[in-house]
Amino acid sequence: MADDCIFCKIVAGELPAEVVDQDEHTVSFMDINPWTRGHALVIPRKHSRNLFEIDDDDLAHVAAAAKRLALRARERLGCDGVNLLNSAEPAAWQTVFHFHVHVIPRYEDDPLRLPGAPQQVDQDELRAVAKELR
Ligand code: AMP
Ligand code: ZN
Repeated sequence: MADDCIFCKIVAGELPAEVVDQDEHTVSFMDINPWTRGHALVIPRKHSRNLFEIDDDDLAHVAAAAKRLALRARERLGCDGVNLLNSAEPAAWQTVFHFHVHVIPRYEDDPLRLPGAPQQVDQDELRAVAKELR
């Protein structure tokens, strides 16, 4: 458990949360400020700051729990789709520094919009960045 981590406190039962699913490695609970009806967060029980630090096994357990919740949201809430969202570091909008995946049920008529717009880039730039990533 990390000092002053609100999600560690939820895992420990020291802060309240509307828990909807849990297993040996993960806990899932309602986001306190939901973007849509049924918006939940899946976290590993074991603290890690974000995607750069989480170990692969915990990441796999979180992914499996997120899928479980997505299926349940479709079955129980009747959503039309789901977004999974994860943010790593403030540059990517992370505000709580215990790894979490947002499971956001989507409805045909909901108000959410894509936060970014696809950009046009030339082939040389694509090739250059691909080379850096290989
Ligand atoms: P992020 O901005 O991706 O780091 O997501 C943090 C999320 O945690 C936000 O969507 C918050 O609404 C949510 N959140 C913060 N505190 C709590 C809490 N005590 N219980 C449930 N959700 C929380
Ligand atoms: Zn934590």
